[in-house]
Amino acid sequence: MIVIMRADATMREKSGVIARAEDFGCKVHLSDGKERTIIGVIGNGRVIDREQMERMPGVERVVPILKPFKLASREFKAEDTVFPLGNHTIGGDEIIVMAGPCSVESRSQIIETAIACKEAGAHVLRGGAFKPRTSPYAFQGLGEEGLKYLAEAREVTGMPIVTEVMEPALVPLICEYADVLQIGARNMQNYALLHAVGESQFPVLLKRGMSSLIEEWLMCAEYILSHGNTRVMLCERGIRTFENYTRNTFDINAIPVAKHLSHLPVVADPSHATGKWEYVAAAAKAGIAAGADGVIIEVHPRPEEAMSDGGQSLKPEKFAKLVREMRAIAQAVGRDIKP
Ligand code: PEP
Ligand code: MN
Repeated sequence: MIVIMRADATMREKSGVIARAEDFGCKVHLSDGKERTIIGVIGNGRVIDREQMERMPGVERVVPILKPFKLASREFKAEDTVFPLGNHTIGGDEIIVMAGPCSVESRSQIIETAIACKEAGAHVLRGGAFKPRTSPYAFQGLGEEGLKYLAEAREVTGMPIVTEVMEPALVPLICEYADVLQIGARNMQNYALLHAVGESQFPVLLKRGMSSLIEEWLMCAEYILSHGNTRVMLCERGIRTFENYTRNTFDINAIPVAKHLSHLPVVADPSHATGKWEYVAAAAKAGIAAGADGVIIEVHPRPEEAMSDGGQSLKPEKFAKLVREMRAIAQAVGRDIKP
């Protein structure tokens, strides 16, 4: 439930409500707004008497959260979540462009790509150092060496880095280098990993599992949020359907649905959603028109030589043209892609 405190509620009254909730074995999440304080009380199954809570001093009203996801819901927090990424912010008027190769392949490849992406207008650099591959014989990523090259690319371009973490034990290592932790589609429901990235307090890009319901995706965000880590971005990256001309089917619906159900920023990944570079631009623009707060796009200077996902990677010139087009779409829907 959410306990909405009166605008003039005192610290003592707020502490009283928190203590009562904790007595019942509930977890408490405080949202100190400009106008008033909202106290999220997440139960452990034991029922708290709503009317009793409503009678406590300083309380204006108590509203039950009906959705299974609580902290991720708009009921808990009506305003959009907005937080900084480098010199920009996600979740507000700006649309954030994340770009880079699927995998970090070498020092020169990531630095060359990072410079090209930055020049084209990207704000955040993507690149995998630990790769979740369908085949155990495929390139698995450069590991820590790849993280070092990413950090160098950040030095050169000033762009923050988003990179995937695949197991809880690697969270501390990745946090030494990365600015945003990516949870891949295959790991969306890896609960130990969700707990670990939640605890890290690092911003997280949570990809939707390829066969996951929107509600399951939001429940995974809830795991991260339950650690008090509020900097979570949801990423729609396409789902499995009967159609196999494209790698996945871009679930455009998921963008407005997630924005309606949750206050968290939503990022569209048109690269994995289509799997073919020819369709990436159309899907990226559709994602922005549908209300995405950011896009993540695979870019490679020589896609034919890429060690992963070359077929869906844009060359830098095509990416630069796409950024100009996305900016026009962003402006048409009252937003902007800032330089
Ligand atoms: C990736 O971003 O390269 C990736 C592996 O994505 P996903 O987890 O969405 O398949
Ligand atoms: Mn990829």
